[in-house]
Amino acid sequence: MVIDGPSGPSDDFIPVIQPPTLTRIDDTSLLSVQQGAVFTTTVSQLANWARANSVWPALFGLACCAIEMMAMSASRWDIARFGAEAFRASPRQSDLMIVAGRLSTKMAPVLRQIYDQMPDPKWVISMGACASTGGVFNNYAIVQGVDQIVPVDIYVPGCPPTPDMLMYGFTMLQDKIKAGVPPASDLQLSGRGV
Ligand code: SF4
Repeated sequence: MVIDGPSGPSDDFIPVIQPPTLTRIDDTSLLSVQQGAVFTTTVSQLANWARANSVWPALFGLACCAIEMMAMSASRWDIARFGAEAFRASPRQSDLMIVAGRLSTKMAPVLRQIYDQMPDPKWVISMGACASTGGVFNNYAIVQGVDQIVPVDIYVPGCPPTPDMLMYGFTMLQDKIKAGVPPASDLQLSGRGV
């Protein structure tokens, strides 16, 4: 193994393992524990990593899409693997709103109020055609896209999106959080000026 420093390990220097020495992913002979090896990061990267792996969604099923959302949290797909199995009944304990289904104009103020009660930073996933565009319900009673009401971070297409698709959208959100991309609520990303 290649080690920076004097000719060998001793008490008075910290060896640094050079990543290129790991030639094969299954080469366990190169993975022996080196006492004092260095791992560097920043506080913000550590916080983003922790946030991305402890997202708690709010309960917000509006229509048929919600069944797929529930399936995502059940044993077959098991969103607990990504740290997001704790669906909360209180917006004050949630940092993700998954809008699962069509949003009626009558329900829109309620959705916005719940969103406003969630603490920052918070994220929104628009799940399915109805939530994103109104879907087949092109009429006065249905909001033609929830981004008219709240800023949306991730759109998941489909009618309904499968649990796999929603999980993929969720992992994309995790990637954004880990990369330090601010939530749409900060960036005003909605094209409709929310
Ligand atoms: S997108 Fe399809 S499955 Fe989802 S709420 Fe609309 S009609 Fe139902």
